[in-house]
Amino acid sequence: MHRGFSILKTATNSNARRGRLWTPHGYIDTPVFMPVGTQAAVKGVLPDQLTGLGAQIILSNTYHLALRPGSELIQAAGGLHAFMHWDHPILTDSGGYQVFSLQSQRAIDSEGVVFKSHLDGSKHRFTPKNVIDHQVRLGSDIMMPLDICTPYGASHKQTDADMAITHRWEAEAVDYWQSLDTDQLLFGLVQGGMFDDLRQASVAALTQHPFSGFAIGGVSVGEPMADMHRIIETVTPQLPPDKPRYIMGIGLPENLEVAIRAGADMFDCVLPTRLARHGQVFMDGHQRVSLKQAKFKLDPEPIQPGCDCYTCLRFSRAYLRHLIQARELSAATLLSIHNVRYLIRLVDALREQI
Ligand SMILES: [Zn+2]
Repeated sequence: MHRGFSILKTATNSNARRGRLWTPHGYIDTPVFMPVGTQAAVKGVLPDQLTGLGAQIILSNTYHLALRPGSELIQAAGGLHAFMHWDHPILTDSGGYQVFSLQSQRAIDSEGVVFKSHLDGSKHRFTPKNVIDHQVRLGSDIMMPLDICTPYGASHKQTDADMAITHRWEAEAVDYWQSLDTDQLLFGLVQGGMFDDLRQASVAALTQHPFSGFAIGGVSVGEPMADMHRIIETVTPQLPPDKPRYIMGIGLPENLEVAIRAGADMFDCVLPTRLARHGQVFMDGHQRVSLKQAKFKLDPEPIQPGCDCYTCLRFSRAYLRHLIQARELSAATLLSIHNVRYLIRLVDALREQI
């Protein structure tokens, strides 16, 4: 098995493929669902539990970690893997999305973007190079370049202008990455909003660079599901077949199935743990059900009969409903374990079918 991405099998009835991606912390079998640990922790779930759930790789976030506790501190602690006690692959998002979605005050200039921290209002600058520097200090396996995530509903003109800056930043990032002595991977990030011509232009511009893989950004940003599916189905097959393809921010079962059929390999989403903290769980038919409902008061069944997760093997819906009502901390953990396992099992099953 070589360093890089190997396609092991392709489906006959769709664009789906099985692959294996090398990273400095081991191989990842794709398609793969990546649980999100924004602040160097998957909310409510401990690293050993994640391993038990079959998580192969997790996501963390450069914006959040650069602001708190700081990438220098994490480097001094031995890097992100040692700091959070996770010895498997980690992908770090660049923080572009957070700069442009969390921040009302920001200014783009020729070198990058200046923004105010959402924590204390302090001023910070992100540039294509220093975002790579942050990720090198974190020591993540897969890095993402700084980009502008144009909000849903933006005009063609605005989306085009943002995309031109993103392309310039990514060219700078890839040149800088190649000048470094690192085996960390760097993915390119396709933008272009909901416009087919801009998406095509973004693919054409970015695939000229020697990125380790390619991501589709700017989906799951509030658009109707039909638009999301159209972008995934049209853009994914345009990406180089010999590189991994990552659709950012999707994790609902109905979206994962569409993306895998379109030939995508990697996915991340905060929803399984966020839904769990609100008492919601995945059940058969991919429904999202609130366990707070009175009908579960005496229900002796596990969340999902047949699920092999720690929670379903031990606890009844009635008990979990009680934990939620009593505001016990273990409720969020037990529901998160089920929801994360549900998505990992789903993607594992889809991978096996290819
Ligand atoms: Zn379960």
